[in-house]
Amino acid sequence: MEANDDRSIEQLQAKVDAVRHRACCVCRRGICGHEILFSIALGLGSSPRCADCLAQGLGQVSKQLRNQLLAHFQQRDCYGEVWRRESVREGFPDDALPGCLWQEEDTSDVGNRPDESVVSLDAIDVNNLAAEVWDAGQMSCGDLVLALRGRMNALTPGTCLKLTAHDPGAVEDIPAWCRMTGHTFLAQDHPHYWIQRKE
Ligand SMILES: [Zn+2]
Ligand SMILES: [Zn+2]
Repeated sequence: MEANDDRSIEQLQAKVDAVRHRACCVCRRGICGHEILFSIALGLGSSPRCADCLAQGLGQVSKQLRNQLLAHFQQRDCYGEVWRRESVREGFPDDALPGCLWQEEDTSDVGNRPDESVVSLDAIDVNNLAAEVWDAGQMSCGDLVLALRGRMNALTPGTCLKLTAHDPGAVEDIPAWCRMTGHTFLAQDHPHYWIQRKE
């Protein structure tokens, strides 16, 4: 593992530790480290929620959202490592689905990556699309989606944002975040990403 990866793991771990022992900010139920990681990946790390409230807020089925998040984490060294640490901390094996969020019977479709229907750059004139432009510089992981969430919320529904994000992890994080939050991921040509705000 490269030093760069180590640093992003420790930064992510610090974000989890910073809000550990907080209750879900919607239903006030206690939340675990896995749910904090979910919240961070969705851009809600500063106001973490339980898995059910996250899904409800996004209009998603809770089990499907959990499976999507886990499939995303499996693509990313930083999320994957902190996920395993949190499993061990909660007394679960680090190579299995933690029993805090998964019951025996709903493990079937874990790891299935959802369709990634991304329009190819050739198919659309992206320069005509972008009404808003934002350069996120070197922001990464939880910080990037947290800031992106704020940017998208401030846009008029239907508006397109051209995002520039230099972190190599953005290639995985941005499409996954759009898929889970319901914004339309239009195109990518790293470090550039075109996203349309949901209606
Ligand atoms: Zn809740
Ligand atoms: Zn847990």
